[in-house]
Amino acid sequence: MLIAIPKEVVTIIKEFQKHKYPIYIVGGAVRDILMGKEVSDWDFTTSATPEEMLAFLPNSYYTNSFGTVGVPSETKDLKPFEITTFRTEHGGYSDHRRPNEVRWGKTLKEDLQRRDFTINALALEVNLDNQKRKDLLEVNLIDYFDGKKDLNEKIIKAVGEPHDRFSEDALRLVRAVRIASELGFNIEKNTFEAIKKHSDLINKISKERIRDELIKIFSSPKPHKGIILLKETLLLEHILPEMTKTYGVEQKSPGRHHISDVWTHSLDSLKFVSELNNDPIVRFATFIHDIGKPQTFKVLPSGTITFYNHEVVGAIIARRIAERLRFSNEQKDKLVRLVRYHQFTVNENQTDSALRRFIRNVTPQLIPDMIDLRIGDRLGSGAKLTSWRLENFKKRLIEVQKQPFSLKDIKVTGHDVMEILNIPPGKKVGEVLNDIFKKVENKELENERDALVQYIKSLKTEA
Ligand code: ATP
Ligand code: MG
Repeated sequence: MLIAIPKEVVTIIKEFQKHKYPIYIVGGAVRDILMGKEVSDWDFTTSATPEEMLAFLPNSYYTNSFGTVGVPSETKDLKPFEITTFRTEHGGYSDHRRPNEVRWGKTLKEDLQRRDFTINALALEVNLDNQKRKDLLEVNLIDYFDGKKDLNEKIIKAVGEPHDRFSEDALRLVRAVRIASELGFNIEKNTFEAIKKHSDLINKISKERIRDELIKIFSSPKPHKGIILLKETLLLEHILPEMTKTYGVEQKSPGRHHISDVWTHSLDSLKFVSELNNDPIVRFATFIHDIGKPQTFKVLPSGTITFYNHEVVGAIIARRIAERLRFSNEQKDKLVRLVRYHQFTVNENQTDSALRRFIRNVTPQLIPDMIDLRIGDRLGSGAKLTSWRLENFKKRLIEVQKQPFSLKDIKVTGHDVMEILNIPPGKKVGEVLNDIFKKVENKELENERDALVQYIKSLKTEA
């Protein structure tokens, strides 16, 4: 096979050859090359130990205790190159997380054997001696576990005995779903059954590592497919138990538009929002926007089903989830706000100040995401993409944002008030500013510096 390999990668391979160590391309890069995709993340494996590599690789550094050495890349968009010493993991995994000891392996085969899935256990050997074309290099694919066949058939399959592999390292449970979701693959039957059987072991894995996988699932092209896999493998009951309570919660009522249960509606909303918005937190928020419904479900005597205040309850649950999964403060704030205010009314009779309150609550930066959530929600309930009401609402949001929002947006300051009225700092200054703000809001005054200065002067003559 002939492939194009970046110069920097060739330089690294040459260094290893010069020092008589075998080196192979492994991991996601091999998958990407075989699938004809651009590679952004180059990983390698070698028989050289980290100390040996550090001695001959300029700029290299030791990244962890698992034998990985990093080399920074000078190309934009390329992650640092990671080179890991061959490993075997026969030391056992008493905590279902990491091997009791890391042992360097002697052969490539030993190293590939400890990798999680067949499509991740492929290696490429680059032949630098026999270069036929200037831009392309000859490579050999090394495939001990039929990874290429599984890649062609779009299958995630454990290397070796799936039960052993998942109980060794429970992170692989959710990695299987994440990689399936990223690549649009299916999970092979025995591998799938093993994940289901060992799903509770995911609780042994740190929340940060689960969060990283979950965010990758929400960032993938079709996150709802990944979520369906999490449900079917029973992992969701451990990762997001609050969402499993929405299964089968009916919302059909006389005169209401809902066509499906809360779970199905959540999945559909996620599917639609993902076509509009790539932000994993916005997609996550859309998925859980109705998470407060199971707790607020009520049937009125008329037969109508209601969920009063489900967005308030939902926001509390969203906060708990964000804290449990160790989201950053920014991620948490975004998730909670989007859930808390998703139930906004779109009505032409709303006053400007009601719209402004909405914008203040959601925050101006999150307004486009909030609208995307609403569109996902609409489409996920079988409604049309938009309505004249929603379009009108969007226009008004833009108009209203041109007007001042808070005291700091008006074109005079407390300083001006003190100077013009010749008064000391105190309550009176705030009163004047608030009065001006109200008048600007009601359009009695224009938010222009000259006009406002004139107005303050007029207060002076009044006094
Ligand atoms: P990407 O970087 O595109 O997410 P990747 O396959 O390169 O995909 P990494 O997390 O970078 O994923 O891991 C590199 C390789 O290390 C994997 O392809 C796999 O061979 C191996 N690997 C990673 N994590 C595990 C694990 N928990 N158990 C076994 N092998 C693993
Ligand atoms: Mg990688």
